[in-house]
Amino acid sequence: MPTQSSAQTAYSIFVSHLQAGKVEQVTIKSRLLEYRLKDEFGGQRYSIQKTGSQADLISLLNSHNVQFDTVSDNSDTATAAGLITLLLSSGLLVGALAWLAKFSTEGGIGLDMGVGKSNARVYQKGKTGITFADVAGVDEAKQELQEVVDFLQNGDKYRKIGAKIPKGVLLVGSPGTGKTLLAKAVAGEAEVPFLSMSGSEFVELYVGVGASRVRDLFNKAKRQAPCIIFIDELDAIGKSRGNNPNGGNDEREQTLNQLLTEMDGFDGNEGVILLAATNRPEILDPALRRPGRFDRQVLVDRPDKSGRIEILGVHARKVILGEDVNLEEIAAQTAGFAGADLANLVNEAALLAARHNRQAVLMVDFGEAFERVIAGLEKRSRVLTLRERQTVAYHEVGHAFVGALMPGGDKVAKISIVPRGLGALGYTLQTPEEDRFLLLEDELRGKIATLLGGRAAELVVFNKISTGASDDIQKATELAEKAITQYGMSTVGPISFAKDEGQFLNSSTSRRTVSGEVTAEIDRLVQQSINQAYEIAQKILELNRDLLESTTQTLLKQEVLEGSQLKMILSQVKAPTELAEFLQG
Ligand code: ADP
Ligand code: ZN
Repeated sequence: MPTQSSAQTAYSIFVSHLQAGKVEQVTIKSRLLEYRLKDEFGGQRYSIQKTGSQADLISLLNSHNVQFDTVSDNSDTATAAGLITLLLSSGLLVGALAWLAKFSTEGGIGLDMGVGKSNARVYQKGKTGITFADVAGVDEAKQELQEVVDFLQNGDKYRKIGAKIPKGVLLVGSPGTGKTLLAKAVAGEAEVPFLSMSGSEFVELYVGVGASRVRDLFNKAKRQAPCIIFIDELDAIGKSRGNNPNGGNDEREQTLNQLLTEMDGFDGNEGVILLAATNRPEILDPALRRPGRFDRQVLVDRPDKSGRIEILGVHARKVILGEDVNLEEIAAQTAGFAGADLANLVNEAALLAARHNRQAVLMVDFGEAFERVIAGLEKRSRVLTLRERQTVAYHEVGHAFVGALMPGGDKVAKISIVPRGLGALGYTLQTPEEDRFLLLEDELRGKIATLLGGRAAELVVFNKISTGASDDIQKATELAEKAITQYGMSTVGPISFAKDEGQFLNSSTSRRTVSGEVTAEIDRLVQQSINQAYEIAQKILELNRDLLESTTQTLLKQEVLEGSQLKMILSQVKAPTELAEFLQG
């Protein structure tokens, strides 16, 4: 590797070069990292001090499809380093050529930052080069954002009639689900400039810098309207103020205050629309969600199986696929993968194919790539084992079957085992047919049984139970307790034992002062009502054991059951003779 003089630069600049697709080649040394810009961006060489682990660095480079070499200054690691070099650089050549070609046409003009200047990457009109066609498997989000495209393109239509165009849209979803990609696609579709910055970039340096960067970013945007400002990792600046036990973080608060001021100080009608992304909406300062700020929220979910097929399709277009490759089969194996994981999978497979000197990527390459990708994901516990998926599937079908037989207007509308968000592994959606303000006693019993249907299914099928039902159990217990202590639906009679409704559920000590006997009676009744509900749920599932089996297998295959297919299945669920008695109490 011929060494030419290279200018020292900062890590953040390196990252912005990477993100703008300007980096041609990287050489990793033991302490330094040297890189060269593509010729069309001047071809300069830079060097930076290495920070972080080698593995992080390599995955960063991989995620941007940049070629790199590792040069070891230390002879005893030379072989390993050489191997990595061989493996990665040769593979990248073939696997990522198409990507590189694509990125190099993006042509962003990076504005180097000075202190207090925002280092937002500014793309010229229509030049994000990304359209909705590049984003797959998130149709609902696309539909909602289509509206934003229209605001940007046909702003006059809205202004004339006196409509207020929303200022801010918050994209909410797990990492790698395509939020950034969607934001770029909105800019690409509307053919407007795209100014992007990450929340963490605002708060990195000195006090006061964040706020002035925000000001600067908005000023820039106003000059280029119509345009899009995109703030990634909004939570880095938007964390709720005032609940920090170590006293506030002044810098972050100043930055957030400035952001709020800027948002209030412009009008969506000026043609600037702010998009922001977060995977932790619950920690955002409520001020950000007030009307006139981020008043719209778009959920960007992990894809279900058909979504994954589409996403794989988008990325497979960029590599040469062998004839034996079956994207549907790959999609079936990648439950829980986000779009970025799928993109990574395709690229890893292409790397492996190149390493094996193949002309095309074969199914075996996908198999091997899958092992690698999954190893990385398992660390972040994103992917369920087969047994876990089965448990979740039986559990959800259990809820659905029990729910289907219970009185009241709640219809089971959807069962899904696509993992969502941080906690839920699956869910069963019941939609009320009308707004209900009163629950009848039998309906309440039915609800408790439905909540316990998940746990009952685990017991019926595996004769073993998991921790996955704790939320259901808590809710069921609350309902059972409320029935007795607040709704007066039990043999203790219509007596309210709740001192304060709000507090009651959180603390058993806030019951109206009652005798020990009554307390014991309440406990007994709660237990009885839970046990009866749990028993009937088990009876229902035992009676419908075959249907439970076939439905679960279908759910495992499709991941989602809804519409007429689900309706058809649920209409076959048989009621045990004990049901009527249970509902009467
Ligand atoms: P996020 O901003 O939600 O963390 P990104 O938009 O940065 O995710 O996604 C990273 C990369 O993963 C994208 O550049 C794209 O290659 C791929 N990707 C993610 N989601 C999708 C999707 N829905 N369709 C196609 N590609 C996707
Ligand atoms: Zn459940």
